[in-house]
Amino acid sequence: MNDKTRDYADRLDVVQALQALVEKKLTSGTSGNVSTRSDTGMLITPTGVAPDGLLPEHIVAMNLDGHVAGDQLTPSSEWQMHADIYREKPDVNAVVHCHSPYATILACAHKPIPAMHYMVAAAGGHGIPLADYATFGSKALSLSNLEALSNSLACLLANHGQLATGASLGKALKLAELVEEQAHCYWGTLAIGGPNLLSKKEMDDVLEAFGNYGQQRCPPKRDQQSEPES
Ligand code: 13P
Ligand code: ZN
Repeated sequence: MNDKTRDYADRLDVVQALQALVEKKLTSGTSGNVSTRSDTGMLITPTGVAPDGLLPEHIVAMNLDGHVAGDQLTPSSEWQMHADIYREKPDVNAVVHCHSPYATILACAHKPIPAMHYMVAAAGGHGIPLADYATFGSKALSLSNLEALSNSLACLLANHGQLATGASLGKALKLAELVEEQAHCYWGTLAIGGPNLLSKKEMDDVLEAFGNYGQQRCPPKRDQQSEPES
C-alpha cells in the first residue's frame, strides 16, 4: 500500500468509527469525536460535523501541538484531550469520546463505576473512574481526563460523557461499547438497592484470568479449515 492509499484507508477508518458510534446508539447529533495516532501526530474528526455527512477528506491531520497544516476543516474542539493522551500514553493508538446515554447519566450523577461486574476489568482496573468536570474543549478537561486515565483505559467525564482508548481503533470502540454496557448494568443495580461489589482479590483474579482468556493463537480462517470427513 502506498502512502496515499494508506492515508485514505486511515481516514476512512476514523469516519466509519464515528458512524459506528451512531449505529450502536452511543452518540447522536454532533456529539463525540474519534482519532487515531499517525506518523506525524493524529487524524481526528472535524468539529461540529454530523457523522452521516462525514467523508475521509473531512478528517483533520494535525500534529500533537495543535498545528493544522494547509487548508483543512477545523479539528474537534477536544483535540487537546486526544493529543495529550497520545503524548502521555505511548501504548494508545486510538481515542473515542461519546455521550452514550447510561455512561452520561452516571457521569452527571458523579458516580464512577465500581467493581460490580467482573467485566469492568476490561478497562484495565478495578472500576471505571470519573474525571473531574471542566468545560468541553478546555485544557483543564484534558488534564482531568489524563489523571482519571492514569490507571485505566477508559473513564467517565463528569457532567459530560465517556472516553475510551485502545491500541487500535477497533479496541477503543469495543471498550466504549463495554463502558456503556457496564454503565447500564450499574444504573440498573442502583434502582434495586445497589450492587454487591467484588473484592480486591476477586478483581485481581479476573485481571490475571484475562491474560489467558480466549484463543491464544489465531483460529484458522474459513477457507483454511479442513473439510469434514465424508
Ligand atoms: P466536536 O464536534 O468539537 O468534536 O465536539 C463534540 C463533543 O462531544 C465535545 O465534547
Ligand atoms: Zn463531548
